[in-house]
Amino acid sequence: MPDQPTEARAATPDNRVAPDQDHDRRRHSAPRDDDGPAPAHSDKAGPNQAARGKTEKGDKKAVTPMMVQFLEIKEANPDCLLFYRMGDFYELFFEDAVEASAALDITLTKRGQHEGREIPMCGVPVHAAESYLSRLIRQGFRVAICEQMEDPAEAKKRGAKSVVKRAVVRLVTPGTISEDNLLDARTHNYLAALAEAAGELALAWLDMSTGHFACETVALPALGAVLARLAPGEILLPDRLLGRTDLAEILADWRDCHTPQPAARFDSENARRRLEKLFSVGDLGAFGDFSRAELAAAGALIDYLELTQQGKLPRLSPLRRGGQGQAMEIDAATRRNLELTQSLSGVRKGSLLATIDRTVTGPGARLLAARLSAPLTAIEVIKARHDGVQYLLAETALRQELRLILKRCPDMERALSRISLARGGPRDLAVIRDGLREAAALQGLLASHPQAPAELKARGGALGGQDGLIDLLERALAPDLPFQARDGGFVAPGYAPQLDELKGLRDESRRLIAGLQADYVAQTGVASLKIRHNNVLGYFIDVTTANAGKIPTGPDSPYVHRQTLASAVRFSTVALSELEQKILSAADKSLALELEIFAELVGEILAQAEQVAAIAAALADLDVAAALAELAAQCRWVRPQMEDSVVFKIDGGRHPVVEAALAKSQDGDFVANDCDLDADNRIWLVTGPNMAGKSTFLRQNALIALLAQMGSFVPVRAARIGVVDRLFSRVGAADDLARGRSTFMVEMVETALILNQAGSRALVILDEIGRGTATFDGLSIAWACIEHLHAVNGCRAFFATHYHELTRLSAKLPALSCHAMRVKEWQGEVVFLHEVAPGAADRSYGIHVARLAGLPPGAVARAEEVLAQLEQGDQAGALTRLADDLPLFSATLARAAPAAPGPDPVASRLEGVNPDDLTPREALALLYELKTLNKA
Ligand code: ATP
Repeated sequence: MPDQPTEARAATPDNRVAPDQDHDRRRHSAPRDDDGPAPAHSDKAGPNQAARGKTEKGDKKAVTPMMVQFLEIKEANPDCLLFYRMGDFYELFFEDAVEASAALDITLTKRGQHEGREIPMCGVPVHAAESYLSRLIRQGFRVAICEQMEDPAEAKKRGAKSVVKRAVVRLVTPGTISEDNLLDARTHNYLAALAEAAGELALAWLDMSTGHFACETVALPALGAVLARLAPGEILLPDRLLGRTDLAEILADWRDCHTPQPAARFDSENARRRLEKLFSVGDLGAFGDFSRAELAAAGALIDYLELTQQGKLPRLSPLRRGGQGQAMEIDAATRRNLELTQSLSGVRKGSLLATIDRTVTGPGARLLAARLSAPLTAIEVIKARHDGVQYLLAETALRQELRLILKRCPDMERALSRISLARGGPRDLAVIRDGLREAAALQGLLASHPQAPAELKARGGALGGQDGLIDLLERALAPDLPFQARDGGFVAPGYAPQLDELKGLRDESRRLIAGLQADYVAQTGVASLKIRHNNVLGYFIDVTTANAGKIPTGPDSPYVHRQTLASAVRFSTVALSELEQKILSAADKSLALELEIFAELVGEILAQAEQVAAIAAALADLDVAAALAELAAQCRWVRPQMEDSVVFKIDGGRHPVVEAALAKSQDGDFVANDCDLDADNRIWLVTGPNMAGKSTFLRQNALIALLAQMGSFVPVRAARIGVVDRLFSRVGAADDLARGRSTFMVEMVETALILNQAGSRALVILDEIGRGTATFDGLSIAWACIEHLHAVNGCRAFFATHYHELTRLSAKLPALSCHAMRVKEWQGEVVFLHEVAPGAADRSYGIHVARLAGLPPGAVARAEEVLAQLEQGDQAGALTRLADDLPLFSATLARAAPAAPGPDPVASRLEGVNPDDLTPREALALLYELKTLNKA
């Protein structure tokens, strides 16, 4: 294991090292200070400080050239872990190594010294780097990938001590990943930027793995909702916005995703120029009339991509403006409460998305999630989506065939992005080939349906036109493809005659080697003689030690000794060396030619990038339409009638997630419920016992509106829905201790938002407002909220409560009506019917639910006594009586509590008895004694 810093050889498939082969990889040493005496002790620690120390002293001679190189690169990337390429490994040093080894749970070693201190080091093998990267990115690290930019042999030509050129080729950050292994196939990964200019705020966002690129002006109160809709993986923010108190609250939700940037990167004029250059246009006007803030945000994204991708930009779709009245506005709390894309426990399982997702492709799944996150408000577009679903629901055979073909469609969006970033491999080319081929098949299928609605026909029409590219890729690519182009062997035989010739030569050489081996066996008489190959010796003749004496090695012998091992001796010959040269040069030439062909194929694909991206988008659209039709078929969902009104009339509505859960657990059928809201009857006050289904009913109505407006059919018998522009939901209670808010504070903040923002087209769900404080405070707040919704907001609302006093409001508020969950009392038990009926509930049956939940019987009995006294009317008097009533309480508890079991006298008596020691008479006597004890 050399101590000197050695430049490792470029990786080859043969000399890769498994992550657990620590001993092998330790052949690399740190870029350590071997060349001169260590500098005087410094108490500075860590690479950055070390680098600064060196610069200050100008003491470059004191460290090795490789250390100088390392420190310079690290200094330029202070906020990233530096993956420093050394042969087959990315090595990390100093603080980076300490942090990464802890985060990845890999061995931390020490190598060499710097400024008198040992240098901590750890490393990951290049071929397994993606999985380590993904773990680091998930834990919030940023990583700079520093590659060897030349062959070590090149460096040697400049002098024995020359250092291989290295450079950072990419910064890996949460918002800029493109590798399949680092991404969730079914989720978008947005990089967003927030900018301010001319008093306006704007957000821009892009998904680097698909090229999706958009921006939107955002009013401050809506910022939280837009961020919640996008759920970006990383947000670029100018330093100065981070300090703004009015933004602090909203941005705090996204604290883990912040990437502060200098304000200069958000300059709108620079941004305009950058965008014009990116899209090769003289004027951005063709894409839309963007505000200064929008340009600044979009420009900051491009700037950041240039920085992190070191100048290589992915293919991006033309910038378009999203939002602004096009999407139903749903704030972060509402999304959480309704469990749209994640359940309350933070996982996909149990969410609405997981329940409705029937897509069969990654891009389709991502589009479905995006649509669910941003339901539409434009009635014509919603109807067009419904048309597509309706057609595919009716045409079962078409739908099934379509889904079968879609299932074979790989993720072209992400492959195209990797190809455009020069990060693609032969398998990405095959993805484009297969995707285009399946798309052409789908086009043919849809062409046989001329009566299909415009939405589907337009998608079908966009799927073809790439026969040339398909043909090229089909001819060029071999059936089995390596992951990386540099591994070679991906060009199909017959595609390039020159390549076939070189490969023929290589195969021929293999035959010659076999011939040579046969000759040597004949010459020496050693039947077990073999010609083998390794990376150190190249080709060599291998015989066992026992046979070594049979190989002539005199001056006239062609055999030259190379190596003696414990069990084998190795030789070479001039003829073998010459043959090796021939083989190597044929292999080199054929790989070089393959790489040329790869570059040509990439060029051909990129020339069609926009068309390929459009086909990929059309496939995703079709996948979503077919998936929603499949869902409608499987779950008996129907088309909602959309209106430009404030009607919300549902016949037989169901909660999709609760219904699915009941079906799975075979816990009975879901009970469908109606509702009927319009301008004159806007607020439903829902009372009823605990566990009766109030929350379920409220949520199902919100979800039905949301599903309808994302373009889906809905779980109802029939529905008329006036388009909802904003959806608010305040359900349940949750602490937000991280932001220093109590349960009740969270409840009030969310309620305030609703009362301040809900307009006449909004739909509001309020579940048990005011429950987190004293009874009368809570009742008063709930009372005032309903009056406010009725008089000021004028929106449609569902309000569930246990404050039965609130039902008196129906006499006073004409647009409010009371509804209750029905229950039946049967043999002293309460049966929940889960049915909503006009009227008001008179009881909550809370104690009954407490009993069901397993409260001790004594506590339940006492609760019933307390309730009985309170219900007599004079609450203050009752409470005073109850407080003085301790004996009664004790008596109740004692009555209800089971007696503590004492020791069993029969068992105790038997404990010391050994039957073998008893005479028959003693046994009989004992039996009588036990009978007496048992009676006592
Ligand atoms: P609480 O007042 O205690 O919060 P709730 O009235 O809001 O209770 P939910 O939480 O909506 O009651 O429902 C309780 C359970 O009842 C649900 O988890 C579900 O299993 C079942 N349930 C609710 N609605 C229905 C329905 N329509 N059909 C069948 N089961 C239902």
